Amino acid sequence: MTSNLNEGLLADRLAATQATYRGDRVLVNALGDFIRSASERQIVRINPIAFARARNLPEQQVIDLFLHARKAGLLTMEWHYVCRGCGQIVESFTVLNDAGEHFFCNTCLGHRDADLSDFVEVGFSVSPAVRASRFLAPSNLTAEENAEFSVSENALNADSIPLRQVFKRDTIFVCYVDAGETRTFNLMLEPGHVGFSHGRDLEVKVGKSGPNDPVHCVYRENRVPEPVVEVAPGPLEFHLTNGTSSRFRALALKIVNPERWSVKLADFLSGSQLLSTQTFLDLFPSETLMSSGGLAVKRVTLLFTDLKGSTALYDRIGDMKAFNLVRQHFGVLRDVITANEGALVKTIGDAVMASFTEPSNAVRAARDMLTQIAEYNAAAGEEIIVLKIGAHCGPCLAVTLNDHLDYFGQTVNLAARVQGLAEANEIWLTDDLYRQAGLSPDLKDYDADQLSVRVKGIDREVLVHRLRLQKAGHPRG
Ligand SMILES: [Zn+2]
Repeated sequence: MTSNLNEGLLADRLAATQATYRGDRVLVNALGDFIRSASERQIVRINPIAFARARNLPEQQVIDLFLHARKAGLLTMEWHYVCRGCGQIVESFTVLNDAGEHFFCNTCLGHRDADLSDFVEVGFSVSPAVRASRFLAPSNLTAEENAEFSVSENALNADSIPLRQVFKRDTIFVCYVDAGETRTFNLMLEPGHVGFSHGRDLEVKVGKSGPNDPVHCVYRENRVPEPVVEVAPGPLEFHLTNGTSSRFRALALKIVNPERWSVKLADFLSGSQLLSTQTFLDLFPSETLMSSGGLAVKRVTLLFTDLKGSTALYDRIGDMKAFNLVRQHFGVLRDVITANEGALVKTIGDAVMASFTEPSNAVRAARDMLTQIAEYNAAAGEEIIVLKIGAHCGPCLAVTLNDHLDYFGQTVNLAARVQGLAEANEIWLTDDLYRQAGLSPDLKDYDADQLSVRVKGIDREVLVHRLRLQKAGHPRG
């Protein structure tokens, strides 16, 4: 039997999850099996993408499932700021509201800008009421476990080796040091670089003659960068004093190939992807609010639609009927956006703004919008709704406007301007998006023209692609 498992509560919350999720029961069962059988370590900071891949399940559906499970109290969720210098999780938040634009890594002594696309990862844990885990309180772990667990499981080095593995392999010492305590380590150093979580680094230089003098290091709050100490290979007596008022976990790491030292995150659920997940916006609308001025998103694809001839439509059928029609068309577009793994950010009059993590999903959504609206019109017996679509991708700021998630910046402006160029049933894409989307299979039925245009507010020519559906029954050639 699994320790600390409340089977009754697990069953209740799995049922509550299934009730709102309404997706495939196989996925809910997979989550239940995992909660029962996984190790204590595995049930904390679960990566939904890794979870999906390990079980050959559809990723977006697993993300949706985890969000419903969170709503049902089965899982909890955290945003983690990962240091791009060392791969450690420096700050964690349960809601975005607490997240700042910058953070500071006390190991690297580096100021970092938060970027929701790159080094902000979202992880889920099993609710401690359902199954407790001592990994929820890292200060209760052994120093070795604490060191390993402080590094993001998704962080890889330049050779794509998990950093947790690298830390484990190259650790010289790791231990807790109590407040005021001094520890002495007799190190045997090989040539190379030694990094510490708590003080000045060592450069162990070939050719430098020993024996080495003892090195003393005092760890203080708000420590500042200090010059590297050069020492000779061989024995070194290292004294470490904790000058703070609380216990800390010290780590010394042999840095192999410091010039090749780099950190990347792989296969993780990024903060920006979560913000482009409709289920998240639907289930937790208040959690997209940011107290800061906005958080950087390095990559997002923004798609705008508008209706052609809506004024004439209102004149012809009256406000009431037109409003109903516009609302129905919002429903069609929303379904298409969700089906293509995007999120409806907002509606503006008759227009829609949507966000996507994957450029190709945005392009597929644009195509599906035209197809679905054509079917809608066919059912209505006239071409009553006519769409004009434009999209662009790039960096922008995720912000809170009117108590809602919104995006701000030149990428937003350009996406909107490019939409403004589209005529009836056209999709206009910037070249940036066109190149990234890998378009061929999705748009084989479309004629594409490349144009260089000037748009208001952009101080340069913009290369765009105009896509028009080939007329049915009139194939080219
Ligand atoms: Zn760091």
